[in-house]
Amino acid sequence: MQERPRRDTFLPFSRPMIGEEEIAGVVDTLRSGWITTGPRSARFEEALAAFNEVPRCLALLSATTGLELALSALGIGEGDEVITTAHTFVCTVSNVVLRGAVPVLVDVEPDTMNLDAGRIAERITPRTKAILPVHYGGLPCRMDRIWEIARRHGLAVVEDAAHTMGARYAGRRIGSDPRSAFSVYSFHPNKNLTTIEGGAIAFHDLRHEAHLKLQRFHGIARGAGTPYPEGSPLYDVPTPGRKSNFTDVQAAVGLAQLPKLDAFAARRRELARLYLSLLSEVPEVELPADGDAEREHCWNLFVLRNRPEATAMARDEMTAALKAENVGTGIHWQGLFSFSFYRDYFERHPEGLPKDGLPHAARTTENLMSLPLFPAMTEEDVLDVGSAVRRVVAAGRRRARAKERVWTESDRRVP
Ligand SMILES: *Cc1c(COP(=O)(O)O)cnc(C)c1O
Repeated sequence: MQERPRRDTFLPFSRPMIGEEEIAGVVDTLRSGWITTGPRSARFEEALAAFNEVPRCLALLSATTGLELALSALGIGEGDEVITTAHTFVCTVSNVVLRGAVPVLVDVEPDTMNLDAGRIAERITPRTKAILPVHYGGLPCRMDRIWEIARRHGLAVVEDAAHTMGARYAGRRIGSDPRSAFSVYSFHPNKNLTTIEGGAIAFHDLRHEAHLKLQRFHGIARGAGTPYPEGSPLYDVPTPGRKSNFTDVQAAVGLAQLPKLDAFAARRRELARLYLSLLSEVPEVELPADGDAEREHCWNLFVLRNRPEATAMARDEMTAALKAENVGTGIHWQGLFSFSFYRDYFERHPEGLPKDGLPHAARTTENLMSLPLFPAMTEEDVLDVGSAVRRVVAAGRRRARAKERVWTESDRRVP
């Protein structure tokens, strides 16, 4: 690999792809006189459903809200259990807790960092209601195995697809298979498609639609057949609901992003594969698994894992050294047990933990870092990062050797 000098500009780990189309769409919307939920949101929802090959998509304030609404639509609450991965963003697990159910954590596969489907069956109890897999970093989980377990045990599947809008499983978009009751996408700025903030829930059984719409907006029911916003100003509230709606300004951003999403993913794939080939020469770090014919990776994150025994440094030292090289990194994510609430929670709910612990999730969370990856990056940017990683690792190796020398020399001095 060709060595490159330290970058003179900072490269962030992620940057949203906002073009002139997004800007023009926002300006048009702001000028239109209708800026909150309205016609553009409706158009965006239709475009989302078409893109994801699902009968219905509802746009929401966030993916977090989408997960909450999915669990609520399934009637999951007090006394129930939901099986999910130990390696996820905290909101996946918090939503289960907020509904009064217990998240039952399953360890990850060491290579993909996705929930290990082979460890699900042993955690099923009479209280289990659903399986909640997360497609980490953009790599789909082994869904056939998850659906098969769900079918055998009569469990619902809710996919946390925050990272995987645009990825495919077995040739189909994530969310498109009716064996999952719900799939939830995120449009946070770090995700492959952004609407500033936002998310969407995809589903197949249209009987859920009324519940989701009520829960999305104050439990307000509008008269049938009265198109909003022209409908009657009077309404009923058949149930208390949340305020989780989407705005037309966000929809304008999303409508401009959606036609570019596949090209974004293709570019991410190219850059990720360049990283994989450059860093395959650095045995001190562990590389993320690529997709395959069945699981098409959309590379939302490129997650490198430090091997501390080989680099003689902790992850945080390594990310600080990369920062000094003007290379930004992210942490996706801190482990659940680094949070005070969850340390207490799982003391009180040992049923949420496997008896043999979560060794792969623990090792992953301690050592991981997300390297810069976004479609506007150049190949030179990737080469810069590759060189920076090699320099940082080589410095660690030198330090380890020096330390060893001091020890052996002082050993020799001991009479
Ligand atoms: C980003 C993310 C979420 C939350 O998405 P928001 O739209 O910010 O609520 C949920 N789950 C995972 C796996 C995520 O990465």
